Amino acid sequence: MLEDKNIHKTSLEQIGEFGLIDILTQGFPLRNPSSLKGIGDDGAVIDFAHEKAVISTDLLIEGVHFNLSYMPLKHLGYKAVMVNLSDIYAMNAIATQITVSIAVSNRFPLEALEELYEGIRLACDIYKVDLVGGDTTSSLRGLIISVTSIGKAPLEKIVYRNGAKENDLIVVSGDLGSAYMGLQVLERENEVFKVNPNLQPDLEPYQYLIERQLKPEARKDIVLLLEKLGVKPTSMMDISDGLSSELLHICKQSQVGCRLMEEKIPLDPVLINACEEFNLSSTMVALSGGEDYELLFTISQADYDKIKGNPNLSVIGYITDASQGCNLITRANEAIPLEARGWNAFR
Ligand code: ADP
Ligand code: MG
Repeated sequence: MLEDKNIHKTSLEQIGEFGLIDILTQGFPLRNPSSLKGIGDDGAVIDFAHEKAVISTDLLIEGVHFNLSYMPLKHLGYKAVMVNLSDIYAMNAIATQITVSIAVSNRFPLEALEELYEGIRLACDIYKVDLVGGDTTSSLRGLIISVTSIGKAPLEKIVYRNGAKENDLIVVSGDLGSAYMGLQVLERENEVFKVNPNLQPDLEPYQYLIERQLKPEARKDIVLLLEKLGVKPTSMMDISDGLSSELLHICKQSQVGCRLMEEKIPLDPVLINACEEFNLSSTMVALSGGEDYELLFTISQADYDKIKGNPNLSVIGYITDASQGCNLITRANEAIPLEARGWNAFR
């Protein structure tokens, strides 16, 4: 796909490293007053005055974290930024700057990297973050992207994973499992395509799932919503590896247990249909499928009225004493110990 799309190709050798950086970093204005110096010097300069800086990094490797045979480069650029901003929002902070580093093999023409940066630019525009630096180098094989995001928050607003208390409510934004099923659909169609490239798949019924996989959105809106509602979560993290493993992280770090109600886990109807078709349990998919980039957090019961009825938020359980362990309460009212069947980078 990569080769077909770029009819006009300019080799990277032709333009050189500095030419490449110049072309790629065009059209990235500095919008945040905190960005004092962006691209073009040895380092960026950022001024958060009285607020604290929150920093997070991700590394994405072709063939491990993404597959270019079904991931368009523009989407990859957008997603690489989203994945990272999501970590900043999970601290209850607002992202303001990113740096992007890439290592590319000579298989990529300039036009492919321009597509990647189009996605990065779109993410910066929509989420109001400034690209303030990065690094560009060659790789022997494939594409490697590392994004670092920088955000800010007053110290008293920052939320860690370790603050959940007994009786707190467990809340999740959006719905779960769809990104994982989107990947299943794309992988299935990719196998079909390898066997018969003339077969045009009908992906229309799965559009929502595919969009969740290829174009996730980080939940900045939830951070702003919580601020507006006057709710400060007691603990929070984003769901990148699946609900089950993330909830276990919160419980472990907070030294508490939990009761997660199966019937309360928010699922999209499209996901439920796809799970039936693939013969998978939608609960398992929501618990263990990754890449939803929703926010998982706990709140004090006193804050329940403030979030009650909000269509973006679902209360899915509550925090218990550590001695009770971490359990899934099934629809049949059985307690099953939660397992970290989340996606494991070393599996
Ligand atoms: P240095 O030699 O100091 O590493 P570079 O020549 O690599 O500097 O980079 C020049 C400027 O361009 C720096 O401000 C750097 O942060 C920025 N930059 C380099 N590569 C990228 C990239 N892929 N994306 C965004 N900015 C980049
Ligand atoms: Mg450099």
